[in-house]
Amino acid sequence: MMSISLAFHGAARTVTGSCIHLNIDTTQILIDCGVSQDYKDSYQNSRGRFDFDPTLIDAIILTHGHLDHSGKVPLLVKHGFKGKIYGHYATCDIAKIIWNDSLHHDNCSYNKRDIERTIENCVPIAYNVPMLISDIEFTLQDAGHILGSSHVLVEYERKRILFSGDIGPVNTPVIRDPFTRWSRNIDAVVIESTYGNRIHKTREKTFDEFEIIIKDTIAARSVLLIPAFAIGRTQEMLYHLNTLIEEKRIPAIPVFVDSPMADNVTSLYRRHRDCFDQETNDKIASGDLPLEFTGLSFVKNAEQSHSLSNISPPMIIIAGSGMCNGGRILRHLQQFISNPSTTVMFVGWQGKGSLGRQLVDGANEVEIDRIKVPVRARIATLNGFSAHADRQGLLEWAQAIPGENKKWFINHGEEHQALSLASLLQNECNGNAVAAEKDARYYL
Ligand SMILES: [Zn+2]
Repeated sequence: MMSISLAFHGAARTVTGSCIHLNIDTTQILIDCGVSQDYKDSYQNSRGRFDFDPTLIDAIILTHGHLDHSGKVPLLVKHGFKGKIYGHYATCDIAKIIWNDSLHHDNCSYNKRDIERTIENCVPIAYNVPMLISDIEFTLQDAGHILGSSHVLVEYERKRILFSGDIGPVNTPVIRDPFTRWSRNIDAVVIESTYGNRIHKTREKTFDEFEIIIKDTIAARSVLLIPAFAIGRTQEMLYHLNTLIEEKRIPAIPVFVDSPMADNVTSLYRRHRDCFDQETNDKIASGDLPLEFTGLSFVKNAEQSHSLSNISPPMIIIAGSGMCNGGRILRHLQQFISNPSTTVMFVGWQGKGSLGRQLVDGANEVEIDRIKVPVRARIATLNGFSAHADRQGLLEWAQAIPGENKKWFINHGEEHQALSLASLLQNECNGNAVAAEKDARYYL
């Protein structure tokens, strides 16, 4: 008698720390193994232990390279995991950047050798090519979230389980849209719910807002700070800036990308053209490189980063981290956030307890590096540039999946988002929907 079960060791009723433990008979597979970025337990988590025996895991499949999906793999290797780590070519490249970067963090509990052993076990694969882990087949398809992001379809003895990974909105620049042309019935789906209860403004409207913010910045000779994740968000912002300049909607303005990781990842984006959508390939064929434009510079070191405060505005600074929990954005916030002519523009999801979330929620004063700083800058939130599909996008993605009486497992969303998507899928799609709970095991 075949036995299939799932346990969610993270990203259950919260967004980060994705780690799904799939047991199929005697084979144990992890779908993702990410760091939890929930403020309260991030320290513990990155040093942490596992709720299972790492030596018993046969393989890992990564949906994409983001820290909260791939960041704990070297720790797993340190604790005895010896299997292969599968992911799209671009995912493996991004994960390598993430893992090497983590060595610079004080609370990193693995070393360079653990990372080398992790990289030795990576198996980069392409979309739409079936692979085998013992006799379990799996296939990656485009998820439209960041470069290399994947849905994972697992098949075993005519049972099919689909793991959404993070689902991008349709029409995300540069990369292709999420795959929806499933040809065979699927029995169970694990679906993310970051915005399970939220509708984004349209990308066009958001793009117009962005244009106005830049024009205001130029007119006021001020500074526009964009805290952005180095992977995905930064490249999308560069793409939009390139479009605005090319369409002559804004004049060229100095744009500084102040994040060594974003610099590395942007180079990766330029290399993996096989992941690009048609529009981007057409642009390149016509001689326009979509992530390059007049006025753009990449800040190479801390000294250059410091010297940005001597440059007379207007200027745009894009820096990490995206939730302002660390990185070079902190110094720029300290420098500029008390100036009423500054705009701080958020373009990604802000975790509970993060400095970014406090600013988005309207804090009048914040603490940066233990110094209290009054907030007088304008705080703008442009969720329409999100890398995650909204409620409607998730529903449409789910409705494209064939099969009767499916089991839906909702993960990767704060509790009210996950529960809201669960009841939507329960009503609109056939089957049974449950918002996954941490460490509970579900049998198919
Ligand atoms: Zn992600």
